[in-house]
Amino acid sequence: MLYRWFAASACALVPLTAFAALTLHDAHTETSIGPRAANPFTTHTALPPITVERTLELGRGETLSHILARSGLTVSQQQAMLQAAKGTTNLSSMKAGTEFTLSYTESAAYQPDDVKLSFREGPTESIHLAYAGGQASAKVQAHKLEKVHSVAVGHIANSLYVDATRAGLPAALIKPFTEIFAWDLDYTRDIHPGDTFKVTFEEVKDDRGNRVKSGRILAASFTVKGKTQQAFWFEDSYGRGDYYNEKGEGKRKLLLRTPLEVYRISSGFNLHRKHPVLGYTRAHKGTDFAAPTGTPVKASGDGVVTYVGRHGGHGNFVKIKHAGGFETAYAHLSRYAKGLRKGQKVKQGQVVAYVGSTGVSTGPHLHYEVIQSGRHVNPMSTKLPTGTVLASKDKSRFSSMVASITTTWRKALTQLADNAPLGKRG
Ligand SMILES: [Zn+2]
Repeated sequence: MLYRWFAASACALVPLTAFAALTLHDAHTETSIGPRAANPFTTHTALPPITVERTLELGRGETLSHILARSGLTVSQQQAMLQAAKGTTNLSSMKAGTEFTLSYTESAAYQPDDVKLSFREGPTESIHLAYAGGQASAKVQAHKLEKVHSVAVGHIANSLYVDATRAGLPAALIKPFTEIFAWDLDYTRDIHPGDTFKVTFEEVKDDRGNRVKSGRILAASFTVKGKTQQAFWFEDSYGRGDYYNEKGEGKRKLLLRTPLEVYRISSGFNLHRKHPVLGYTRAHKGTDFAAPTGTPVKASGDGVVTYVGRHGGHGNFVKIKHAGGFETAYAHLSRYAKGLRKGQKVKQGQVVAYVGSTGVSTGPHLHYEVIQSGRHVNPMSTKLPTGTVLASKDKSRFSSMVASITTTWRKALTQLADNAPLGKRG
C-alpha cells in the first residue's frame, strides 16, 4: 500500500511517467495505462480514470482471499467478491501458481471500479469475478475437453522409460505398454539400444492443448532385435475389448508369464535340481522368483480358487483352477489377499496373496507351479493357449483399423527422421 500513499501525495509534482514507473515495482507484471499519462501535470481531481491491469500468482498455501488482499481493491470490494465467488468453485483447493488476471479502472479518488478478476479453475473451468456499481458477481466459463488419438514413436537409447516419455508417451502409460507385451518380452533382458517402439494412445486435452489425462493404449508396436511384436485394441461385435496381434490373435494368454510384477528368476524350472533347503535331489516342479516379502502375487489367469491354507513344506499356499485343464499354485506366501477363500472366482492379474518365506524356505521368494492336465510343466517355456481369437465377422473392421494405424505410424516415423539432427539421419 506504500506506493499508493506516495503516489497520492506526489502526483501533482512528479511527472506521471515517473508515477507509472513507481507503480511498476509493486508487481512486476503490472501495467498502468490510460489517458492520465497524456497530461501529467494536472492535479488529481481533474484526472480521468485510468485502467489498471495486473497478473497475480497464487502462492503456496494461499487462497483467493490472499489474492484479493494484494489486489488494491477496498476491503468491502474484496469481501463482496469473495462472497460472490463462494459456490462457484472450491476455493481452498486451488493450486499454487494459478494465475489471476485483474483489471479495474481507478478514478481520481483512487476508488477502483469496474473490477474484473479471472482465473483458471482446473482444466475445464474459468471463473470470472466482477465488481461494478457496488455489486459483485461471479460467472463460470466451461472449457471444452477433447479426446484425441496421439502417436509416440522412437527408439531405445537409454531406457524404455526415458525414451518413451521423451517420445511423448505419458509416464502413466509405460506400464500398460510393457504389460501388452508381457508374454512376448522379458524386459529385464530383451531390450537393447536401437530397438524401436510405436504407440497410439488416447489422451484428453484442454482447449489450450495441454494434456489433462491419458487414456488407453490403442495400438503398440515393439521391434526388439529386428523382431516386431504388435498389438491393437479392438472391441468385437459383442463389445468385448482386448488386444490382438496384426493377425487377429489375442495377445492375452490364458496365464500370465509371471505372477509377480517385478522379479528375477532365482532358480529355473528344473525337475532334477538339488533343493537348497532340503539338501537332497528331488523334483522341484516349479519356478522360484526372488522377491521381497509383501510383494503382491497375482492370479495367473481367470479361474476358481481350489486351495487356501497351510500345505506342508509349501507353507501358506494357494491353488487356482483355470480353463483348458490348467492349474496354478503359489507357495511360501506371507499372507493371502483379504477375504480370499476356496471356491472364489478370480480374474487374471487379481492380487491373491503376498510373497513370504513360510514352509520350507531359505528366504522370501515365490514358488510358482503350473499344472497342465495333472502334470507339472515349465511356465517359462510351455506354449499357452491364447485367450481369444477374432471372429470372422469382425475381421474386416479389424483389418482396416490396423491399416489406418500403420499408416499414421509410417507418417510419424517419416516426421521423426525429418526432424532428426543431420548427423543422426538415416
Ligand atoms: Zn521352489
